[in-house]
Amino acid sequence: MAQNTEQDRIRRKKRKKLLKLRKNRLGCSVIAFMLSGLITLVLLALVLQSFFLISLSSKIESEYASLQMLANMYQADVSEGKEDAIRLLDLTGRPYLLKEADGTLLYQNGENTCGTLSGSFVSTTGDIFISIATDPTPYTVYEDTKYPIMVPDSRGYITVDWAKLMRKMTENPLDEQLVTDDTIQMDSHLLLLPLWIEVTPEGGTQRLIFRTELTENLSELILLIIILLAMLVTGLLLSIILLHNLISDLIRQHKVKKLFFTDIATKGHNWMWFLLRGEILLHKARRIRYAVAEISVVKYRTFCVCNSIAEGEQLLGRIQNTLLSRLEKKEICAHSADGSFAMLLRYTDDETLRQRIRQMMTDAAGEETGHSIAFHTGVNVIPESAEKRGIFRRNDADLEKEYNNACAACATLEHSDDSGIAFFDEKLVEEQKWIDTVLQEQQSALQNEEFVVFYQPKYDPRTNQLSGAEALIRWQSPKYGFISPGKFIPIFEKNGFITEIDHYMIAHAARDQRRWLNAGYHCVPVSVNVSRAHFIESDLAEQIRDIVDAEGTPHELIEIELTESAFFDDKKALIRTISRLKSYGFTVSMDDFGSGYSSLNSLKDMPLDILKLDAEFFRGETAGTDRGEIIVTEAIRLAKSLNMRTVAEGVEIKEQVDFLAAQGCDMIQGYYFAKPMPGNEFEQRIAAPADPLPEQPVSET
Ligand code: C2E
Ligand code: CA
Ligand code: CA
Repeated sequence: MAQNTEQDRIRRKKRKKLLKLRKNRLGCSVIAFMLSGLITLVLLALVLQSFFLISLSSKIESEYASLQMLANMYQADVSEGKEDAIRLLDLTGRPYLLKEADGTLLYQNGENTCGTLSGSFVSTTGDIFISIATDPTPYTVYEDTKYPIMVPDSRGYITVDWAKLMRKMTENPLDEQLVTDDTIQMDSHLLLLPLWIEVTPEGGTQRLIFRTELTENLSELILLIIILLAMLVTGLLLSIILLHNLISDLIRQHKVKKLFFTDIATKGHNWMWFLLRGEILLHKARRIRYAVAEISVVKYRTFCVCNSIAEGEQLLGRIQNTLLSRLEKKEICAHSADGSFAMLLRYTDDETLRQRIRQMMTDAAGEETGHSIAFHTGVNVIPESAEKRGIFRRNDADLEKEYNNACAACATLEHSDDSGIAFFDEKLVEEQKWIDTVLQEQQSALQNEEFVVFYQPKYDPRTNQLSGAEALIRWQSPKYGFISPGKFIPIFEKNGFITEIDHYMIAHAARDQRRWLNAGYHCVPVSVNVSRAHFIESDLAEQIRDIVDAEGTPHELIEIELTESAFFDDKKALIRTISRLKSYGFTVSMDDFGSGYSSLNSLKDMPLDILKLDAEFFRGETAGTDRGEIIVTEAIRLAKSLNMRTVAEGVEIKEQVDFLAAQGCDMIQGYYFAKPMPGNEFEQRIAAPADPLPEQPVSET
């Protein structure tokens, strides 16, 4: 359980990764790229401004210091009572304002362009813009209303109005500026920036506000701008290269992704795509009930062998196109593996879906003119965990697991060459689990002798004498209890273990016979079933002979039963084996004659001793009817004319026994006389051959 959750977690993680892969991040990448470009530009502008302001701030500070000195000298003159103290101020040659502490203008020199907005410019020990200086001596400054380039901002810091500065610089060509006096001046070296600075003379109450022109070395500024521009251009170039790489990477990624979700054989979508798209659909299309299906071309690999792989792939491509054209909205189909396609289809009920799929298979097969093809389809209706007002909640839907169930349903059709549809149900899971269990247990069960031999006696209906028996396997498992052969023999036949079982049965039957002989019982021939899987072994007759010889049992006490289906395999090999078995003294019988596809022809060629009439003759629809009796009569007659004895199987009622006796049937093996029984019970019958026969069927123990 814990392991399952861990595996589920790993699978969920894997799927998340794939989902991420599908998402297209082109838009995000371009936006991120543009954003980073913008940030770089802003940063460069800030650097430029910072440089400029740092340089200006030191100039303001020195300007302030000299103006303060001037003001102090003025104050000294005023204190001394000098009449022309004001003259000192005129010496600067700059416009200035002399105000009372309350702001009343006392004197004005030159044009008053002093702005009303004032800013407290903080001395620049740190960053001019954001940090509060450690020595926050504020200088009160005003912008120049005529040329408001140096502007105190709302926080009280001085900033440069770049737009205005640039405009001024372009409006005034260099030669014109040389002639102007109080405008922003620019010669080839200097950039003059007007600003009003207020100082308070020490010991005085008046305020002095001077217009000052801060100078910037133009060539230095231009150099700075050039450096920054060069940095910008380099940055831009790098960005373009990066963008180019980014785009080509994205294109490459897109191509890889396309390749990742494209099927090589059909050129359509592949399984990975199906899984991701399907899961998205299951989560989003919540009003639709879905079934997942595996539709698989019967014997696709044989088709490729008979034609070519390329033709096989073309066939798959055509089939996929047909399937795609039959899909409704919000349904998907992709090539999953080999000759199989995965489909996610809308589901209303079993019958409607069955009809649709049948039509799809007919259409796809109908497209093929040169070849005849068939399909097997396994369907699994996706379980709905909860439904509320027509909306399905499928948060826990695992498409891979559901598709696997569809494949399991499809696998149940593998023995048929005709088209067919199988729906998945829980019984199938149980069956599959049982098949797994058998596979796990079979070898140890054989070693621990958990397989036991039961014997079903055969009686002569004319004399009611015991004249033979069939050895039938039973599995007495300490874990699972008593298991009848129908539950494990077909599994062994598929997985090949049947050959070991048959050897085991021959050996045990021969051993029992030897023991009974030694005990002096009236032994009768015991027939043992040999599965058709054995007939590929060319030395089968010798193997059987050696097994029987190893127990020291006379060959005439062992009969070999071959099922009728074995007669369709390699006929020559079969005749050879039968002849060899007979030459060693074994009796050979054809089991289940009349079931499935009887081949009278095989009877003609096979040197068989006994014909076992299938139980269907006595239990099937024609049993007891005139027609049924005619067939049985004729089969017995046919056997006799071919020098064969007959055994009727599955006889349960007295009328049948009487009828068969009248027809000259040699032996009857059926519940009327006896059910299969354990060896020790059978032993009692051969120990006392003249035992009275039961009138009613006995029960198997
Ligand atoms: P089978 O070889 O045709 O065996 C005859 C089956 O018919 C036996 O079933 C037997 O119990 C049953 N039977 C006999 N008389 C009657 C009757 O009057 N009424 C009914 N309803 N049934 C009757 P069982 O033992 O269950 O075996 C089933 C099949 O399993 C066998 O069919 C045979 O094909 C296979 N099998 C059994 N033991 C072995 C074995 O050791 N090796 C191989 N290869 N196959 C075996
Ligand atoms: Ca048999
Ligand atoms: Ca039989």
